Amino acid sequence: MPTQDGSPTYRGRFAPSPTGPLHFGSLLAAFGSWLLARHAGGEWWVRIEDLDPPREQAGAADRQLRTLEAFGLHADGPIVRQSDRDAVYRAALERLLANGDAFACWCSRSDLASLGGIHHACVAGPQPGRVPAIRLRIPRGSDVAFDDAIQGRIVQDVGAEVGDIVLRRADGLWAYQLAVVVDDAAQGITDVVRGADLLDSTPRQILLQRALGLPTPRYAHLPLVVDPEGRKLSKSLAAMPVDDANPLPALRAAWRSLGQDPRILEHIADVPGALAAARAAFAPPNIPPGSIALHNTGVAFAT
Ligand SMILES: [Zn+2]
Repeated sequence: MPTQDGSPTYRGRFAPSPTGPLHFGSLLAAFGSWLLARHAGGEWWVRIEDLDPPREQAGAADRQLRTLEAFGLHADGPIVRQSDRDAVYRAALERLLANGDAFACWCSRSDLASLGGIHHACVAGPQPGRVPAIRLRIPRGSDVAFDDAIQGRIVQDVGAEVGDIVLRRADGLWAYQLAVVVDDAAQGITDVVRGADLLDSTPRQILLQRALGLPTPRYAHLPLVVDPEGRKLSKSLAAMPVDDANPLPALRAAWRSLGQDPRILEHIADVPGALAAARAAFAPPNIPPGSIALHNTGVAFAT
């Protein structure tokens, strides 16, 4: 649904990191962001966040894309891979360095350990021959507030609680925060829908958007799936892939986890039919803000 100048009124996205196959938590983010985009009559794009080669698995991005197809979740725009966008991130970083918002930093993790890992000012001086990290300057008293569509009003003093954030690491890798902010703006994303594990990142991303003169999208952070004791899923459980050959059980579980009426999908036996019924019946206000225990999702994971 474009506006008169051609920009969309709603463009959402799903942005997985190719660290392994899509698991149930990622499916929840994919399906939730797709449903919210479709409900708004908007577009849904996919971006591969492959900026951390040591953590990535060969072939995982293609496998994730095949899984999305198997689940009937088709992207409306080109698939963007962050590994192709080095020049764009570099240009953004140079702007921040030029206007004094970013600076070179030689402080090590151990230098900052006695400060709770929070960087307020450099404690290490320049070290010739060593590549510095580049950080964004975040003064104390940098309160950021935003209204999350699911989690409500969020306020954080980013200066006090987070400090100066890394934009490019000393090993040359781009920080997630810089890449995601630059890409959301470049792709014209109006609505960021993602898991609540990224809620903490949002205030610092808003400060970075302001420093770069970029618009702030609307945000909705989906509930996280936790184990029956309410803890974050263990690595092995969290990494259990959803089944491309049999998408309906995981799709039904994701639907239920989003607080939607389970009866809607109960007797539908094909993916296109399930997605059509889900689109028609989807009620965004029913999405719960809190965590959902895995045993309530109806997914038969082995434990
Ligand atoms: Zn420093």
